[in-house]
Amino acid sequence: MLLYEPTLERNMRDYGITIPIAISRPSQIMAFLTEQGEKFPRHTLASAAETLAIATPIISRADLERVHSPEYVASLYDPIGLERTILSTYELINDDGSYNRYEPDTATRPLTEIFQAQLEQVDGTYLACRLALADAGRFCFYLGGGAHHARYDAGSGFCILNDIIIALRKLLDEGHASLIWIIDVDAHKGDGSAELIQLSRQRGETFSGKNPEIFSLSIHMAHGWPLDEVSLAKAIPGHAPLVESDIDIPIESGEEVLYLPRLAEGLARMEQRTAGRIPDLALVVDGVDPYRKDGLASSAPLALSLAQCVARDRFIYTFLQKRCIPSSWVMAGGYGEHAWKPTAHFLASL
Ligand SMILES: [Zn+2]
Repeated sequence: MLLYEPTLERNMRDYGITIPIAISRPSQIMAFLTEQGEKFPRHTLASAAETLAIATPIISRADLERVHSPEYVASLYDPIGLERTILSTYELINDDGSYNRYEPDTATRPLTEIFQAQLEQVDGTYLACRLALADAGRFCFYLGGGAHHARYDAGSGFCILNDIIIALRKLLDEGHASLIWIIDVDAHKGDGSAELIQLSRQRGETFSGKNPEIFSLSIHMAHGWPLDEVSLAKAIPGHAPLVESDIDIPIESGEEVLYLPRLAEGLARMEQRTAGRIPDLALVVDGVDPYRKDGLASSAPLALSLAQCVARDRFIYTFLQKRCIPSSWVMAGGYGEHAWKPTAHFLASL
């Protein structure tokens, strides 16, 4: 099952943002799959909501406040607070107030529209999970989502809302699942998700008895997140970016050949750590910025070949299918003109 919403594609340059996010990544993937004659059943957000009889709007302010701090959520509904959050989250402003990769004079759309777009991304991630749970094939790939850096009380790393945790907490709250795995293979550590999971546990939430309801694995570059020494110096243990996932697998530069064995070992450990409990769902944060030809300079320390990226995704897919674990997949990081290829080739290989 594919979930693809063409109206959600955004050109960051419309907002005056010059970050090299390839706007056409989902549409390039779809074009490649069509060319390959793929036969996946597919949905848009509207058709998925209709099929599942889910009323719109899907994500409410209460859904955001279940995960993010009420003060932070309130700031997003305030135009001045929202603009401030977007400028810092997309790293558009320097300490001296000058702009970085941001040319507001060239913008044709209001910057604050990004919030609505991210809300729709949360809809997509939630719907992908519901589709995976309902689909006989136990598989749904959403060509969107994956904002794993968004924290409890702040945006971070181009992520304003953590669609992953918002969607999963909603699923748990509605009784659609009682144990969910997160398998995060983006080049950058899934630190926002890890922080939100830890904080919810500290508040006594996301437990069934003494067992965690969300269990996370992140395999990522050993270094390079946070991006700079200043952020690292300001970091507080127990909070993003220093907070730990349940299983963290750092990969050093030059260890690409060990990536797949380490991932396999991590998944085996995940199974042991939640022994006796088959998860109701696995959410795969399928970042392609580990790809050697990805356009983001900061993810260059991890450089998987196209074949290694596809092998990674096929390994996870097969691991979950063998265990009859439904999986929803979100796109996460991927930058520049080649970023569509790993996902396209993985899906075509199925
Ligand atoms: Zn990333």
